[in-house]
Amino acid sequence: MDQPPRSLSALREAERACRRCPLYRHATQAVPGEGPRRARLMLVGEQPGNDEDLAGAPFIGPAGRVLDLALEAAGLDRATIFVTNAVKHFKFVPRGKRRLHQRPNAGEIDACRVWNRAERALVKPALVVALGATALRSLTGKTLSISSMRGRTADLDGGAKLIATIHPSFLLRIRDADDKRKEQARFVADLKRARDFLG
Ligand code: SF4
Repeated sequence: MDQPPRSLSALREAERACRRCPLYRHATQAVPGEGPRRARLMLVGEQPGNDEDLAGAPFIGPAGRVLDLALEAAGLDRATIFVTNAVKHFKFVPRGKRRLHQRPNAGEIDACRVWNRAERALVKPALVVALGATALRSLTGKTLSISSMRGRTADLDGGAKLIATIHPSFLLRIRDADDKRKEQARFVADLKRARDFLG
């Protein structure tokens, strides 16, 4: 990138034209972040899923619904938050008519870091929440576990603070009802910490 984009619309255009890794080849479109230009809180997920890839908007599928419920339970209004992903194109393997999510690898995450850096430079959030290990890698440039970072507040380049929690899709994969309830409560508690940080 010669010059960082000066607006969110310029950034969206740049992301659409991106060829920095192979993921653009099979995805429908790049899915840019969404939210107010001056949001104080930014949530960073992993990558678009099937629904997001088709619609071009982040967190609108099953994981997005889990996120919306948790935000509501934590007293946070999604309309005030900039919601985005570490990786902008959907990575999947075809299985018949379905497209199965695949985790982006380190090279793909690192190739895409430039776009979240640009988002943070434009939005200047006070707090960034990493939803899952892919977001954490994108934001810190390091492979860190969520458990090692959970409950802590770290510094990010550019002055924002960082907290880490799970990706909401993790909750969709838990079968045991008790475990699911416990993990949901922990997720909401992490989001409440974000709300309290912002005051
Ligand atoms: S996933 Fe990111 S780095 Fe790869 S082509 Fe898409 S926008 Fe570019």
